[in-house]
Amino acid sequence: MTSPWSRSAAWTDELTIADVPVSVLAERFGTPSYVLDVPDLRTRCRDVVAAAARAGEEHGIATSVYYASKAFSSVAVLRWAYAEGLRVDVASLGELATALRAEVPGAAIGLHGNNKSEAELDLALRNGVGRIVIDSLSEIELVAERARAAGVTAPVMVRVTTGVHAGGHEYIATAHEDQKFGLSLASGAALEAVARILATPELRLLGLHSHIGSQIMVPEGFVEAARSLLRLRSEVFASTGVLLEELDLGGGFGVAYTADDDAPDVPALIAGLVGTVAQVASETGEAAPALSFEPGRSLVGPTVTTLYRVGTVKPVRLDGGGERLYVSVDGGMSDNIRTVLYGATYTAALASRRSEAQPVLSRVVGKHCESGDIVIRDVMLPADIRRGDLLAVPVTGAYGRSLASNYNQMPRPGVVAVGEGDPREIVRRESIEDLLALDLG
Ligand SMILES: *Cc1c(COP(=O)(O)O)cnc(C)c1O
Repeated sequence: MTSPWSRSAAWTDELTIADVPVSVLAERFGTPSYVLDVPDLRTRCRDVVAAAARAGEEHGIATSVYYASKAFSSVAVLRWAYAEGLRVDVASLGELATALRAEVPGAAIGLHGNNKSEAELDLALRNGVGRIVIDSLSEIELVAERARAAGVTAPVMVRVTTGVHAGGHEYIATAHEDQKFGLSLASGAALEAVARILATPELRLLGLHSHIGSQIMVPEGFVEAARSLLRLRSEVFASTGVLLEELDLGGGFGVAYTADDDAPDVPALIAGLVGTVAQVASETGEAAPALSFEPGRSLVGPTVTTLYRVGTVKPVRLDGGGERLYVSVDGGMSDNIRTVLYGATYTAALASRRSEAQPVLSRVVGKHCESGDIVIRDVMLPADIRRGDLLAVPVTGAYGRSLASNYNQMPRPGVVAVGEGDPREIVRRESIEDLLALDLG
């Protein structure tokens, strides 16, 4: 069991985050709002960097940790992450521009994507990007051409589809991956990419990359992928004499969305992987590679709580007997699509007051015009929950604001940072005027 609440959350007469009562936040910034617990975020960043570095030192392995900024990209968050020793992964022009605006040096930025544009490559190369992760054979020539045009050598890695696919509590090893990312190990495409890159003077091959999935709770899949990459590295060494300097094991480390989830201790998991790679490499007699990791969700997910205002509360008779309380909030699938998209589970609590009322089976729904607009399918909430109450939903920091939409012409909520100086919006709430400004009539 892992508590889903951010680390500075506490209960007095109401929920407080970094000692700020949620009623004060709602009053000042409105609802819905994403509330970011900054000390929690900074601690998670620091801990993962320190754990990787410590394990690395023990085994003589250089380590680096990239924040996968697609989980939540904002200038303030990238500044904090970089200040705590992280580098930053981006996968679009907008994410790259955000990292640059946050003054993350190009050398500390990694560029991903299965369909990188020339504009993305050019901006990345102009800023001395630390690495471009090659995702297809055709991209090799494209990156080489943009590097030639920029008059630079591009540092690249090869994204390898190892056949290990992981997610949730399980991992399944399959020989072929019918999906868009990476270069297949099984078909020989990965090895072919390595050979072509080594023969391309505009490219400098740093190493191999693997990202096996998301919301992964156990280390086995990562270990399997690491072994695959190490085998491929040995193969490259045997056939070309080049010993690749770095392996990246990607992200995907799971978090607890509810008290029923058993989330891994991510710093410990990463430290363990460093040890495993050191051991496997030593069995081959080759020098161990430098290692990098790319957590996204596990850094930012648990640090954000969505605050909603409760509106309509409606008891609904269930087919098999019994009743469910439908609790409507002032947001919904526009600020949290994960329940609808992935069948994700969340918990919630009445946050603005204490209640002694009996907990009853409830469903938290949004205000959008479809019955599938569900934030939490099943949750126990006090029977006296009513219009005007504040409802808090934890662990919404990853793929929350970043997947938000304007469905029903709803302005997207702001992100409020607490625990570092005065509470302030780090991403402004959209206004109706913002939406209308895009409409050219
Ligand atoms: C999405 C992604 C990550 C981060 O995944 P999380 O589940 O958020 O940790 C890391 N690396 C790559 C290449 C990704 O696409």
